[in-house]
Amino acid sequence: MPIESIKHDILIIGSGLAGLRAAVEIKRKYGDKLDVGVVSKVHLMRSHSIAAEGGTAAVLYPEEGDSLALHAWDTIKGSDFLADQDAVWTFVKLMP
Ligand SMILES: Cc1cc2nc3c(=O)[nH]c(=O)nc-3n(C[C@H](O)[C@H](O)[C@H](O)COP(=O)(O)OP(=O)(O)OC[C@H]3O[C@@H](n4cnc5c(N)ncnc54)[C@H](O)[C@@H]3O)c2cc1C
Repeated sequence: MPIESIKHDILIIGSGLAGLRAAVEIKRKYGDKLDVGVVSKVHLMRSHSIAAEGGTAAVLYPEEGDSLALHAWDTIKGSDFLADQDAVWTFVKLMP
C-alpha cells in the first residue's frame, strides 16, 4: 500500500494561539510563495488557547504602581519558572 506524504515549505507544530498566529504571519508576509502546514497533537478546539477566557494583562497605568517588572514576575511565576525570560521581557514591553 503506498504511503501518502504531504509536503509543506514550513511546518508548525501546535495549533494553539502561538502556532496559529505564526501561520497567519507567515501567510501575511509571504502569501502564496510559502505553503504552511499546522500539526497538532489534539483537536484544534482542545488547545489551552481555547480555554483562556480572562483576557490578557498589560501595564497600562504605571503611575498607579504597576510596572513591567511586576508583569514579568507574574508571567514567569505563572509559568512555574519555565518561561524563557528574554521572551517574557519582550512580551511585557509589547503588551501595552
Ligand atoms: C483553563 C485555562 C485558562 C486560561 N486563561 C487564560 C487567560 O485568561 N488569559 C491568558 O492570558 N492566558 C490564559 N491561559 C493560558 C493561555 O491559554 C496559554 O498561555 C496560551 O493559550 C498558550 O498558547 P500556546 O499556543 O503557546 O499553547 P497551546 O494553546 O497550549 O497550544 C499548544 C499546541 O501544541 C500542540 N502540541 C503539544 N505537544 C505536541 C506534540 N508533541 N506534537 C504536536 N502538537 C503538539 C497542542 O495540541 C496544541 O495545539 C489559560 C490556560 C488555561 C488552561
